Amino acid sequence: MTGAGGFIGGHMVRNLLDSGHSVTGVDIKPLHEWWQRFDIHNIVADLRDPAAGRELSRNIDVIYHFAADMGGISYISENDWDCASSVAMTVNLLRAATERDVRSFVYASSACVYPATLQGSDPSPLREELAHPGDPEGGYGWEKLFSERLCRYAARAGGPGVRIARLFNVYGPHGTWRGGREKAPAAICRKVAEVALGKSDQVVVWGTGTQLRSFLYIDDCVRGLAALARAGDARPTNLASDELVTVAELTALTAAVAGVEVSLRYDPAQPTGVRARIPDISCAAQRLDWHPAFSLLEGIRLTYRWICGQLGGERAPRTHDRFSQGETEKIT
Ligand code: NAD
Repeated sequence: MTGAGGFIGGHMVRNLLDSGHSVTGVDIKPLHEWWQRFDIHNIVADLRDPAAGRELSRNIDVIYHFAADMGGISYISENDWDCASSVAMTVNLLRAATERDVRSFVYASSACVYPATLQGSDPSPLREELAHPGDPEGGYGWEKLFSERLCRYAARAGGPGVRIARLFNVYGPHGTWRGGREKAPAAICRKVAEVALGKSDQVVVWGTGTQLRSFLYIDDCVRGLAALARAGDARPTNLASDELVTVAELTALTAAVAGVEVSLRYDPAQPTGVRARIPDISCAAQRLDWHPAFSLLEGIRLTYRWICGQLGGERAPRTHDRFSQGETEKIT
């Protein structure tokens, strides 16, 4: 599991352990910064280094490639090069997977592969085939679209079987909630919690609040990824919630969950991304028999509660009972 110290990677490690797999986790962050830690082979390494990819692919059956230099709209729109150069990790891992006969490669792609022209004032539901011809969102979107293509070429050249998930706005506990890389649901939960805890008297919403989005709760995402990994389908598949909401509605719902009245200030000068992102999840239903189970209300309740807890004190990574420091190795 690459990106094991990150949000989705940490939840996926838990899922794989629960289903009886043996897992190696890799991340560039020092171990104390991983969101969740388990008693597995945990490795700190920079996967842009080809030697790390080669070393880590030894005796591995499936690679889940979830490491990326990424963040919310502000981070990805200001860091094209850093986001785009994550492609080096995909190249290294696919090459190593091919050399080492890794059976399959599960890649976390993104809704950012879709062209902005389909997500304006007259938006189209984003079916998988609409990602081409390519006009993805900045360096981050180009990296995802090109990595998808690399997966396909590697498979054709005798590499691992590939599974590609296009994830749309995943949220939930144990992920970035402050510091500049957080995404909208975490940022809004934090801002509302600051009002609830008397640390702030206003919530600043980026843009006009009219941006239309859907948000996928982490447990649904993990269930979809597990189904995708089991399925023998190499085509990119959207994993998203079909519950659409504006950012203003998301803020109102979060305030209702918190039981506070918040005064809102809209800041149109901040980056907001596309106007309306509407997923089509019929392929996931057909190919994987998957549909999200969590409502936005349930997911925000769980996320808000966790972020409130984090605001109460310094973030302590969740260390699972079976964690032992001795299992950790540093490759860089
Ligand atoms: P995250 O930032 O929490 O996790 C990514 C992890 O990758 C981080 O822990 C980071 O330290 C690690 N990483 C970055 N560069 C690395 C390097 N050079 N070597 C090793 N590790 C490195 O992000 P996330 O939300 O868990 O996203 C996981 C994957 O899903 C990413 O590929 C992301 O692009 C994709 N994705 C996420 C979302 C979402 O809404 N969270 C949506 C679409 C796609």
